[in-house]
Amino acid sequence: MLEFNHKNASKLIHNLVDEIFDYSCQHFGICEGDYPKVRVYMKDDNCYFEPKTNKIRIGIKYVDKAFYYHEYSHIKHDHDIGMFPCVMENEEGDIVSNWVKYVSAVVAHEMAHFVDIMTQSKIDIPENMVYYSPNDINDVEQREYHDARWQHIYRTLRNKFVNEI
Ligand SMILES: [Zn+2]
Repeated sequence: MLEFNHKNASKLIHNLVDEIFDYSCQHFGICEGDYPKVRVYMKDDNCYFEPKTNKIRIGIKYVDKAFYYHEYSHIKHDHDIGMFPCVMENEEGDIVSNWVKYVSAVVAHEMAHFVDIMTQSKIDIPENMVYYSPNDINDVEQREYHDARWQHIYRTLRNKFVNEI
């Protein structure tokens, strides 16, 4: 199990952003020049993509204590993009947090926003796609951010980069 610290987490996050960016260039048609600025913080757990500055902020306090990865309630029961128990057995046989999987899911969530914003309306949503209405989200802007196209992108990234960890 990789030790949880800023250096290891930052390396993991930057590598995964690289991988998802390359994949998204090929599959979602984002442009080379759009690469997001990624910043990792240990002091809180705020995570978001900020379209105006093209910045992805990943706050990772508590992730080494988290036994569940949580999601918005409209998608949390979905097999691919919902919440999941985030645990593993360590060398001593104790059940501990699988923080690598947790952080990877956070990166996939925020990179799905990045891809969604950068490709506005260019990505076709599959006709038979399972879709959940984000009725439970009060903020109008946040509702739009977690709508159908984002769910499609997030599902693709979760299945490709996170769910099999
Ligand atoms: Zn989000």
